[in-house]
Amino acid sequence: MTDGARSATGRGSAPREVATHCPYCALQCGMTLREEAGRVTVLPRQFPTNRGGLCQKGWTAAELLDHPERLTTPLLRDPGTGELRPASWEAALDRIVTGIRAVQRGHGPDAVAVFGGGGLTNEKAYALGKFARVALRTRHIDYNGRFCMSSAAAAGLRAFGVDRGLPFPLADLGRADTLLLVGANPAETMPPLVRWLTEQRERGGRLIVVDPRVTATARLADLHLQPLPGTDLAVANALLHIALTEGWVDRAYVDTRTTGFPAVRRSVAGWWPARAEALSGVPVADLEATARALGTAERAVILTARGAEQHAKGVDTVTGFVNLALALGLPGRPGSGYGCLTGQGNGQGGREHGQKADQLPGYRRIDDPAAREHVAGVWGVPAGELPGPGVPAYRLLDSLGTPAGPKALLVFGSNPVVSAPRAARVERRLRDLDLLVVADFLLSETAALADVVLPTAQWAEEDGTMTNLEGRVLRRRALREPPPGVRTDLAVLADLAARLATPGEDGGGGGAGAASGAAARFPTDPRTVFAELRRASAGGPADYAGVSWERIDAADGVWWPCPDEDGPDTPRLFADRFATPDGRARFHPVEHRPAAEEVCPEYPLYFTTGRVLAQYQSGTQTRRVAALRRAAPSAFVELHPDLADRLGVTDGEPVRVVSRRGELRAPARLSPGIRPDTVFAPFHWGGAGRANSVTNDAVDPVSGMPEFKICAVRVERVEP
Ligand code: SF4
Repeated sequence: MTDGARSATGRGSAPREVATHCPYCALQCGMTLREEAGRVTVLPRQFPTNRGGLCQKGWTAAELLDHPERLTTPLLRDPGTGELRPASWEAALDRIVTGIRAVQRGHGPDAVAVFGGGGLTNEKAYALGKFARVALRTRHIDYNGRFCMSSAAAAGLRAFGVDRGLPFPLADLGRADTLLLVGANPAETMPPLVRWLTEQRERGGRLIVVDPRVTATARLADLHLQPLPGTDLAVANALLHIALTEGWVDRAYVDTRTTGFPAVRRSVAGWWPARAEALSGVPVADLEATARALGTAERAVILTARGAEQHAKGVDTVTGFVNLALALGLPGRPGSGYGCLTGQGNGQGGREHGQKADQLPGYRRIDDPAAREHVAGVWGVPAGELPGPGVPAYRLLDSLGTPAGPKALLVFGSNPVVSAPRAARVERRLRDLDLLVVADFLLSETAALADVVLPTAQWAEEDGTMTNLEGRVLRRRALREPPPGVRTDLAVLADLAARLATPGEDGGGGGAGAASGAAARFPTDPRTVFAELRRASAGGPADYAGVSWERIDAADGVWWPCPDEDGPDTPRLFADRFATPDGRARFHPVEHRPAAEEVCPEYPLYFTTGRVLAQYQSGTQTRRVAALRRAAPSAFVELHPDLADRLGVTDGEPVRVVSRRGELRAPARLSPGIRPDTVFAPFHWGGAGRANSVTNDAVDPVSGMPEFKICAVRVERVEP
């Protein structure tokens, strides 16, 4: 029996149960897995964030454990036929190591790159970063969280000195008198969170939603602002302008807890409400009502999510709302503050422990000499041998197979062929590689292009930790062992590291005893990896030194920073000081600017993307779950009926959405809830319905976040 699994009868025989968390989004709902007669079912579990609730994705998560499409043997591309064929682990690992050595011999260590994922456990994210820097000695590692959280992370860092999605417990949402959700649709992306919104409103609170579409969340709101895509920053600046004019700014808070306000006051002086209305389409009366609801509330929370963040000005847009929150004196007060709703399951922890191109474990900067010394000491290598910073995800993907870019790529827990912007171009880059390796448990669109596919364990088959959207570290507990032929990601990394350290026929790698040394450096037991992660993170901004698995088990998780096993953790940040050198939060003036691509006569409509309730991310998993496939079987294009009329399109008819980069084809879905100048498509599908064939690869200059949420398109009826 695996760590944590117990007999449901208490007599050491089946059925077995284990208390764990959902494999999907950052809410990380608590659930119980039960195995009886070989069948695994999901049961509700009381946990402080989801309080027994699960969405359809969570209820059906166990279906993939024994799915007929589950990969249980490595696959190697046959050079003769070009097809993927079953192979032994020995042959697959040999092929990878030979390929890595050939590429690095010809082009240097940076010619091999690693691409990780925001769904990997903390242990795996940590081991992957270490593997890239120590075993491969490459600077090129980044991950798909760059497409998710990076703009809010960068804005939080520059304002507060630390990036934790919610710097307060989720329960604070229920206490807020006013809650402003900007570009967030939790009613579809994380439905159990809606209980907190319901509680907030039942207590008499006001919910205000900013979104270009009438989403399921917008329908719950007391007030819905429906701006033109790409104009949220103008809305934020206008709200602060009104708060200043009306005298709602908390002068004492601004004077004692912040710096830089005069420059922001000057920068928003020109954002009178009528100007913001002309730009965004949000009526002045709604802007004033929103500012009043925030400015006069005793407790108010402002939350952003991908709708505000996935723009080439995403960092500045989030900063605009952070400025507003700081001016109103919200951060650090119970029931108040600014936060970001993280998306991926371990979007928070996954960005703290070394998968990001510029970071080492504990949220340390890789260009900080003291950080390098500390982490190199834990890893047992000279600090001078650690590579420097790499490049953000899209730049990395766009450079693959080019003369100056990496020639080999190892992908863990990600499907960029569907999830990257301008995806057809990314697909071409992947095809240009000398070696593409994908570790996954299903044949994703990216795995289908690989030279080597490695079958890896699923969430119910391995232990580990995840860090939810509150910065609360949780235990993922295994119910059963992986099926025969399947290995964990940690075992794969250890195997590869050992082989890379063994001298090859060409003399590459190794040295006496290097293989056993490498194996010791890459333990396969997640508890051992976590113990090392704790040491590596000690003293860093995301300090896990005091977080033990036992402590997590004894409570409902542990909030970082937690530097001391006998000391407190930190459910609420910023009560007394911010994580900046002087302890004060920093205002930054930010100006609205147009999207990287605005509409024009040839491409007269805005295109925006998002999620639907029954699918998750690139859909590799959820598209294979029968109930979810029935609920959301395929891609669609949402159009306003007036626009459909103009185009001569009826509901269900196939349409083409065409941008300068490519097109998607899917049936039209008519909805009066979308602006007539905007079309929407979910991004969960590949093939002809791939939304990211159309999206723009312009990125935010600070965070590297691509502009998924706005580009210019035309829509055409597809003639039968
Ligand atoms: S809300 Fe998120 S964590 Fe909860 S059950 Fe649904 S997908 Fe899983």
